[in-house]
Amino acid sequence: MTIQWFPGHMAKARRQVTEKLKLIDIVYELVDARIPQSSRNPMIDEIVTNKPRVVLLNKADKADKAITNEWLRYYEEKGIAAIAIDAQSGKGLNQILTVSKELLKEKFDRMRAKGIKNPRAIRAMIVGIPNVGKSTLINRLAHKNIAKTGDRPGVTQAQQWIKVGKELELLDTPGILWPKFEDELVGYKLATTGAIKDTILNLQDVAVYALRFLTASYPNRLQERYDLPHIPEEIVDLFDEIGKRRGCLLSGGIIDYDKTAELVLREIRGDRLGVLTFEKPYEEKVEAE
Ligand code: GDP
Repeated sequence: MTIQWFPGHMAKARRQVTEKLKLIDIVYELVDARIPQSSRNPMIDEIVTNKPRVVLLNKADKADKAITNEWLRYYEEKGIAAIAIDAQSGKGLNQILTVSKELLKEKFDRMRAKGIKNPRAIRAMIVGIPNVGKSTLINRLAHKNIAKTGDRPGVTQAQQWIKVGKELELLDTPGILWPKFEDELVGYKLATTGAIKDTILNLQDVAVYALRFLTASYPNRLQERYDLPHIPEEIVDLFDEIGKRRGCLLSGGIIDYDKTAELVLREIRGDRLGVLTFEKPYEEKVEAE
């Protein structure tokens, strides 16, 4: 599902996240490990001001491991807690509680100092753009431990908490933030990884971005996948070579560029070119807004 973001939607989303912030101790910001910058909404820094935050680099199974490690080092240098996870298989999830406890130690120590012998569980919420894996993560952590708060008349919206062991409780509905794709490159990265629907951007433009990226960053994999003796300089020639080899043809043997674009994107998303990361920390374009 892709949400079309209009100013009204954005304001509502922001309000919903802000409301829920009052209920929790810590925020888990879910991003896509393949595009950690482009899959976050920079507004989150304004929205989440007074709660500690952990960045969860999700879908790490689909990302280039060496670059994921670079990202983890980057966050560490910036003093931001970050963990690489795979919400689908559950990899890395046990670190979440450990890191949360460290970040909230002072707060809970203060509670104990006030005489609270058994402080309550840590309360957390997940925020992120659509398709980043929020529901998958919640389901994975839940193990059916959904603690129903029940309907309370008069309460506008009863929040439900999911118990994750004894020490952590998660709001059952995540905070949804809008992707920020005013920047063309951000849009292409979101589309290439499948975070936004293919109807939003021109598919051929997205494939042009993806093929240029592969040519620059993973040339060997591109050559290997499509049996290319060399990578043509002109992008149209590259489309021709791939289309020809894969039988993406219109009548008369003309290359079908739409079909070629679709094929390339499908193969990238299906990890047929191996695991890929589309942006590195400290890249000039990454920092550009
Ligand atoms: P939400 O919109 O943020 O709630 O995203 P979903 O939880 O619906 O996930 C979007 C898609 O990403 C689904 O097809 C999930 O199966 C997939 N997904 C989520 N987490 C992971 C992960 O860690 N690894 C992989 N490979 N896929 C994931």
